Amino acid sequence: MPVESDHPQEECGVFAIASLSNVSIDIFYALRVLQHRGQESAGIAAYSSGIKAIKGMGLAHQALKPEDIKNLKGEFGIGHVRYSTHGTSNLDNAQPIVVSTNFGDIALAHNGELVNADKIMEELKKKGWAFITSSDSEIAVRLLANDIANTGDPIRSLRNLMSMLQGSYSMTIMIDNRVFAIRDPLGIRPLCIGKTKFGYAAASEGVVFDTLGGEFVRDVEPGEIVELLPSEFKSVKTGLSKGRAHCMFEWVYIARADSCIDGRLVYEVRRRIGQRLAQEQPVDADVVVPIPDSGRSHAIGYSEESGIRYSEGLMKNRYVERTFIMPEQSERTTSVMLKLNPLKSVIKDQRVILVDDSIVRGTTIRQIVQIVRNAGAKEVHVRIGSPPIRAPCYFGIDMKTREQFAATGRTIEQIGKMITADSLGYISVEGLIDAIGHAQGDLCLGCLTEEYPIQVPGEKVRFQKKLDSYV
Ligand code: SF4
Repeated sequence: MPVESDHPQEECGVFAIASLSNVSIDIFYALRVLQHRGQESAGIAAYSSGIKAIKGMGLAHQALKPEDIKNLKGEFGIGHVRYSTHGTSNLDNAQPIVVSTNFGDIALAHNGELVNADKIMEELKKKGWAFITSSDSEIAVRLLANDIANTGDPIRSLRNLMSMLQGSYSMTIMIDNRVFAIRDPLGIRPLCIGKTKFGYAAASEGVVFDTLGGEFVRDVEPGEIVELLPSEFKSVKTGLSKGRAHCMFEWVYIARADSCIDGRLVYEVRRRIGQRLAQEQPVDADVVVPIPDSGRSHAIGYSEESGIRYSEGLMKNRYVERTFIMPEQSERTTSVMLKLNPLKSVIKDQRVILVDDSIVRGTTIRQIVQIVRNAGAKEVHVRIGSPPIRAPCYFGIDMKTREQFAATGRTIEQIGKMITADSLGYISVEGLIDAIGHAQGDLCLGCLTEEYPIQVPGEKVRFQKKLDSYV
């Protein structure tokens, strides 16, 4: 079940490694670093005369037992942390998915979402194919297995697979002891290559390599196949890429602040967003307060640009997990109180600017405004580091219906009233693009502009409207 939250939900994190030493512990640590990208399940697959996998539900350290990790031998492996955007949340859908074939075993871990998954599945079912899970990733692994049976050539089959799939995918794949990383032709989700002490690796975010005592090498290019070996990595350009469409939300919220995504350090982008927000949405106030942790870097930028003092006015209970797994509204109210406590000495009698990265439903931010008011704030002004979210994501973030958004059918003033703020201001689409520092044509902005980089039934394709019509 997708978890209700006031933030876009993360999708998944993937990792792959080819090494001269056992890899299961390195993969476990990599999954702990990527934990912010998915908290529902975790899994590791390693090759040692065949591929074996361990998987479980929950955070990596809950899902994977220390003795199982230690007993999983092999110098080649992949790993996955999952938040389900396609398919239900249960152990069957946990990844890596492993299948056995006549020519060996295949394991696959996927971050992203395939927009033509249902269509492919329907066609394959008509031909008599059977599926065990409801996950779009199973379609990919079965197509790949079938294609290798025809070509006998893993790289040719990976290219064939990429030409069949539409949507976002950063995948790590093992075909027996050959380890690959592939990225969709638009590079929607991140994927990068790094060097570790004893080999080469690929990960959703480069911060993993720091933890493993290694170093970031470069991003995987859109439409590229990378084969990892202990001593080197090999690149195959498929020629499938016709441009880029990096998800803007990786910089706004999803990726860790210390990760560098497609050449831009996330922390610096968030700071620039805050600075631009201060220019576009100024307000007379006494203190800038971040909503921890998501609004912190944006708030630092806002404070720097506006000259208004930055202060931590909300303390976070670090033992409450990042997402609220509370289905009922009343229970979620308690979650916010459990998670955040105001520092009255910072807030009382002050005109407060609360800064956060985004508003999805508006329910949580409304409660936080109330908490700050009850702590004695004279005024509460809310500033948001992304433009209003108006449309679903079809590429791996769990925002599926227009009805859920605070911005649906409301003006910004009306959203401000709904969340009981004295004023509300969002960064503009243009401001966000400038802060990220990639050209508009190299970004996916679909959930903001309602124009997508890939044709989705019932939606417009990007660049149909001028940029200033979104403000
Ligand atoms: S629609 Fe939004 S969240 Fe989804 S990939 Fe595009 S920018 Fe990212």
